Amino acid sequence: MAVFMLLALITVLVWQRDVAHKREIFKNHIASCANDIARGLEFSVDNHTAVLEAFKDRWLDRTDRSQERFEAFADIHTKRFPDFEAIYYVDHTGVVRWVVPSEGNEAAICTDLHDHPNARYFVEVEQSLKTGSTGVVKLAGGGVGFSVCVPVVGRGKAVGYINGILRVHPLVARQVAKHSKGEFHLHLIFGKDVILSTGEATARARDLYSVNMPLRVVNQRWRLELLPGQELEARMKTVLPLISLFLGLLMSAGLGLLIFFLIQRIEQHIQAKGKFSDLYLYNRALIEASLDPLVTFDKKGLILDVNEAMIRATGKRREKLVGTPFEDYFTDSKRAHEGVQEVFKAGKVKDYELVMKGRDKAETVVLYNASVYKDQNGKIVGAFAAARDVTEQKRAEEALAQKAEELARSNAELQQFAYVASHDLQEPLRMVASYTQLLARRYKGRLDSDADEFIAYAVDGVTRMQELIHSLLTYSRVGTHGKDLEPTDCEALLERTLANLKMTIEESGADVTRDALPTVMADDVQLGQLFQNLIGNAIKFRNQGPLHVHVTARPIAECGVRNAERTACGVRSAEGGVLASDLNSEIQNPKSKIQNGWLFSVSDNGIGIDPEHAGRIFKVFQRLHTRHECPGTGIGLAICRKIVERHGGRIWVESEPGKGSTFYFTIPQKKE
Ligand code: ADP
Repeated sequence: MAVFMLLALITVLVWQRDVAHKREIFKNHIASCANDIARGLEFSVDNHTAVLEAFKDRWLDRTDRSQERFEAFADIHTKRFPDFEAIYYVDHTGVVRWVVPSEGNEAAICTDLHDHPNARYFVEVEQSLKTGSTGVVKLAGGGVGFSVCVPVVGRGKAVGYINGILRVHPLVARQVAKHSKGEFHLHLIFGKDVILSTGEATARARDLYSVNMPLRVVNQRWRLELLPGQELEARMKTVLPLISLFLGLLMSAGLGLLIFFLIQRIEQHIQAKGKFSDLYLYNRALIEASLDPLVTFDKKGLILDVNEAMIRATGKRREKLVGTPFEDYFTDSKRAHEGVQEVFKAGKVKDYELVMKGRDKAETVVLYNASVYKDQNGKIVGAFAAARDVTEQKRAEEALAQKAEELARSNAELQQFAYVASHDLQEPLRMVASYTQLLARRYKGRLDSDADEFIAYAVDGVTRMQELIHSLLTYSRVGTHGKDLEPTDCEALLERTLANLKMTIEESGADVTRDALPTVMADDVQLGQLFQNLIGNAIKFRNQGPLHVHVTARPIAECGVRNAERTACGVRSAEGGVLASDLNSEIQNPKSKIQNGWLFSVSDNGIGIDPEHAGRIFKVFQRLHTRHECPGTGIGLAICRKIVERHGGRIWVESEPGKGSTFYFTIPQKKE
């Protein structure tokens, strides 16, 4: 708005100046015309004065100065110079004597000019003896004129006066005619009287353009006032300046609007620039906040920008880094180069391992995650790469792998030792057992009663040791003598197991039932042993009442949650530290290796197990009963656990003392 006002003001000022300039030009034009007319008039009057003076000179030269001669002479002049209204002679006393042409002016004869209203002008001539004008006179034929009075001087005195009356109108008309018609209004002023007026201008035109020009008429001072005529006034009143003012204002408005929009755009630009720089600072702070080295590079792999972490990691200044190839800062530059190519090809790379060359030849193992970034048009500009220092992690992983290897080796050695020991111990034990049994058979009752008792103890001890060694051998064989996992029909396998346990089942009167069982990847011998141990235990640790054993299998994905809900009481698994709920979260984890397996259960209504001991019973030689209460070596469940773990599953128990136990184990679909 301010811009528009300013421009409008400038436009109005320019317009005013222009109008004033135009007026000035008009006025100058009028002044120049007035000057022309005035000089023309003066020239014309001077000419006529000169004519009269020449008349006088020639008259003086004449010897015959009779009235007839004068009149004849004057007649020639009035005819040649028709502007002379009359030429008349005045004697030295100031009395008019002869008048040519006399028509209408005869009345002037004998008039004494000293008595005339214009007497003072005559007296001036009389005294100065110089040609003068008599002022304005009314002419007999109408109109006005003035008399030019030329003194005829003889011996230093005026002996007479030759006068010529000049009619004003034709003199003026001739000058005005030089200009186009109606261009001016002319006023001829003598003293205070307007002696001739060609018309009146408007008051405004008079105020603006009237030009007053002094006019010398012989020895008198007249004034010429020139005013613009109708035609000139009309020309001056042209609407052109108004149109130009209007156009100027219009252009000012347009220009004002343009400047307004320009300023708005500039302001927007400045604002955007401000926002942009805020955004830049924000992004910079974000990049610098990272403790990981961050780099951006172009399609050629030349570094565009780095953060402080990168500067610290490489020990080089930013200026040294920017513009250099990204690959230069890694031990394997070829692999780094391939990584750069990979980013632009695939759009990103994930955990791309490289070894960064640091300061003082230090090497850092880093995992690079990089992705391309684009401009507003979606064109790829460069790539943004973030490195994560995994040196420590790598070291830890290597140490862990080494430990695991050592553990596996010592485990294998231990297994081998257990196997060899239990296997090799069998032979001497068998011999000890054979001979103590022989001793018992042959010398029973032949020695004293103590000897019989001692021999019985020895036989019992050896038999137990044989059982233990046999169990230990079975346990160690799970790891060392297992078969490859093959599809195993669990229903058929369970039938075979139950056939093996036929005698025991019949003796105990147990009722063993099952749901439909799947075919799983398993070592059928070991899986059979697992069923046998669990069902055997159920029979062994039964209650007084009728025993019922039930075997089920369900896909893990279906029953995991329900199972976990049921086990929320906190029963611990075979590891002695993992809660059943932990198992549930593992079941729910889609990446878990048991996710797609089966959950088996063997439940009984036997004596049950105190949850406190639920973890312990899966360890070797751990029993909850004495040998006298229940026979056994305490290795059965340890074997079960080892079998399940060899198949990639887990085993745990849920139980309520006095009501029964349910042993759960999982078998993954495929061992990984
Ligand atoms: P063993 O059967 O030779 O004693 P196990 O390793 O098979 O050795 O079992 C360890 C202990 O777990 C058993 O001594 C017993 O106290 C308990 N146990 C195992 N199965 C059951 C069961 N079904 N009911 C109750 N207690 C059981």
